[in-house]
Amino acid sequence: MRDLIKKTVLFFVIFVLFSCENHVREVTVQYYDSVYYKNYYSLLHVQKVRKQYEQLSAFEHMLITHNIVPIQSVDSSIQINLKYAGNDNFWNVNFYKVHNCAYLQYETALKLRKAQQLLWEVDSTYSLLVFDALRPYCIQVDMWNKCSLSGIKKRNFVASPTHKSLHNYGLAVDVTVCRGSKELDMGTLFDVPGRTSYTYNEDKLVKVGALSKQQVQNRRILRKAMREAGFIPNKYEWWHFSSEYRKNVNQFPYVYCFDSIAN
Ligand SMILES: [Zn+2]
Repeated sequence: MRDLIKKTVLFFVIFVLFSCENHVREVTVQYYDSVYYKNYYSLLHVQKVRKQYEQLSAFEHMLITHNIVPIQSVDSSIQINLKYAGNDNFWNVNFYKVHNCAYLQYETALKLRKAQQLLWEVDSTYSLLVFDALRPYCIQVDMWNKCSLSGIKKRNFVASPTHKSLHNYGLAVDVTVCRGSKELDMGTLFDVPGRTSYTYNEDKLVKVGALSKQQVQNRRILRKAMREAGFIPNKYEWWHFSSEYRKNVNQFPYVYCFDSIAN
């Protein structure tokens, strides 16, 4: 009888182990395939701009393995001036230091390329100019702590670290339109907090003389191209656009800092 029990237990243990092994192997293979495909696809685009993949930093390697790619690898005609890689910003702080490359989720970068093409249909001399794209979460926290604003004005201007920003996922971009190297007049410069940057009451702002009709028209040129390309405008910042609704962000990894990414 004891032998029978022993044999039954042994059989059961082997059966469970065998089932687990099969299960793990199957999941691993599926995961590897999808990641490999995505990375390979990203790399093809990266290599168009950077001939030698080895020259990328460890941080950039990490981004690419998560399908977050340099904007200019998808469309080299899009102009870039990362405001947080220098002191010319609301905080007068260089947050990015050595990291001076604009990255976005690959699908978001494709939408930006579409917006650039739509702009050209309006005027072939127009181009998008990107002020910020992927922004690691640790920078978001630093910005929040160093922000001199308070209350609702602060929350509208800097996403609270408790909610994260879509920039942390590479799903948001700060952008304007330029002609050659000259930016269109949008009524305010980038990163000016307050009502003149708001987009939901522009007609009222024109009525009270806070914005001109031409400035609002320029914003509409930007918004139309971005909307038609699949971006969602922001109520409080004319320059900020998201490529996903917040309810969908959990399916994407977010960049924690310049050495870490969270799935
Ligand atoms: Zn933004």
